[in-house]
Amino acid sequence: MINAKLIINGREETSDRTIDVVSPADTRVVLGSVPDATSEQVDEAVQAAATAFPEWSSRPLEERQGALFAAAGAIHDMIEEYAPLLSRENGKILEESHIDLEFASGICGYTAGISAEALADQRIHDAGGTTLIRRRPIGPVAAVTPWNFPVVLSFMKLAPALVAGNTVVLKPSENSPLVLTEVIRALQEHFPPGVLNMVTGGDATGEALVAHPLIRKIGFTGGIDTGRKVMAVAAQDIKRVTLELGGNDPAVVLDDVDLSPETMRRIAKGAFSATGQVCFGLKSIYVPTRIHDRFVEAFHAAVDEIVVGPGDDPRSTMGPLNNAQQKGSVEKILEEARGAGAVVTTLGRKLDTAAWEHGHFMMPSVVTDADPRLAIVEQEQFGPTVPVVRYTELDEVIRLTNRSQFGLAASIWSADEDRAFELGRRLDTGSVFINSHSFSSLDPRAPFGGTKNSGLGREFSPASLDAYTELQTISRRTGPPGPPLS
Ligand code: NAD
Repeated sequence: MINAKLIINGREETSDRTIDVVSPADTRVVLGSVPDATSEQVDEAVQAAATAFPEWSSRPLEERQGALFAAAGAIHDMIEEYAPLLSRENGKILEESHIDLEFASGICGYTAGISAEALADQRIHDAGGTTLIRRRPIGPVAAVTPWNFPVVLSFMKLAPALVAGNTVVLKPSENSPLVLTEVIRALQEHFPPGVLNMVTGGDATGEALVAHPLIRKIGFTGGIDTGRKVMAVAAQDIKRVTLELGGNDPAVVLDDVDLSPETMRRIAKGAFSATGQVCFGLKSIYVPTRIHDRFVEAFHAAVDEIVVGPGDDPRSTMGPLNNAQQKGSVEKILEEARGAGAVVTTLGRKLDTAAWEHGHFMMPSVVTDADPRLAIVEQEQFGPTVPVVRYTELDEVIRLTNRSQFGLAASIWSADEDRAFELGRRLDTGSVFINSHSFSSLDPRAPFGGTKNSGLGREFSPASLDAYTELQTISRRTGPPGPPLS
């Protein structure tokens, strides 16, 4: 049982009200609680971040890098002990909890490693004088994150923000906060008081945090509707924003695809990892009519191998959904599809678990013959079901994908990788993966983020440091002018 605390100015604080964290595999089991921070406590945390900012931002970069490298090591050391708890509070399987923590550790080390080059001053020196272009930190940052990959999604903001010299107030989701709060607590020894603060609570805590006038930058990951609200609030003080929002990420299967069990398992992994609750996860599969029936048969066989049970049971290959609201929303989408004549094939095997009816479990399903205007095809289902949609003209799939309000990721499946790379250029999404669509497709050296309603800005890569700095020009130019502007 973990009763987490707020972390404000290096001190642990409680609140009069707390929020219970229950197991998604058995909602009768309470795993711990987090304080529901008051608006005064949010203010206190932001004030602490603002007070700590001048000193932290003026430290030599090597010291901030050192703190991030130490954080990477500390998170790494917590993986074995905390991955099972992460699976218990979140629902996802042990392998996915390991990935969440490992990626968080990796992103701290990677970002610290590239920061010297990415943050270096640029100088222009010519007969006209000298110009210095520098990157400076922005100020106190609000990092607001969701429940599906709570640790890595938080560190995708914290690592670039902190190494660049900003201070942070983190607001995790109340749906899977316990391991993340333990990580933030453990990292306090590596940062001066006030540099890395954390306030927990529900949506109102997030609202109070992003609206605080001393916050200068918001790093947000979550749903599109929440992202819109955050952006509207940011407009008030022209706060900088990075938004990582939802996706409805298609797999475009080409007619030369290899239908082997290995490929089918890779596609199934893309759709059913973390019980389908991955922002860039595979959400629909477009297949040429000519191979549709063969594809569906081979794909069904791969999905049928999934074993559903509690996330912390090593025999499970898919856990429950994280919360009742998410399960209800997926059930509604499936209900609508069935009502409209689509075929929903339920597959997989259920692990014997006495608590089945007390958990947010769902078996994996594949939907065929769905009208493309149905929510199962058009919206982000964020759950363990995926539609297979036939196409005759490739151009039509590209038009459909590019017309969608989403633009986070897509994948192309083909035996001809050159053809797939060329086709990737035509898709209006932040990422296009070839012959893979899961965590292994991600590369921290490459920018990650969405086009259109899927977000604004990029995480990972040197672009993440751009997002947590402002450019400043300092110049002494008294001689002849620089290059002509026209
Ligand atoms: P959510 O938008 O409901 O909540 C995200 C966070 O924002 C939570 O901490 C919440 O308390 C806080 N919040 C809610 N209202 C707020 C407000 N008005 N102002 C400030 N903060 C507020 O999302 P969720 O249900 O936790 O997560 C699921 C969604 O997140 C899905 O749509 C998924 O696609 C998206 N997501 C996107 C990415 C990505 O990188 N693009 C990654 C993971 C999840």
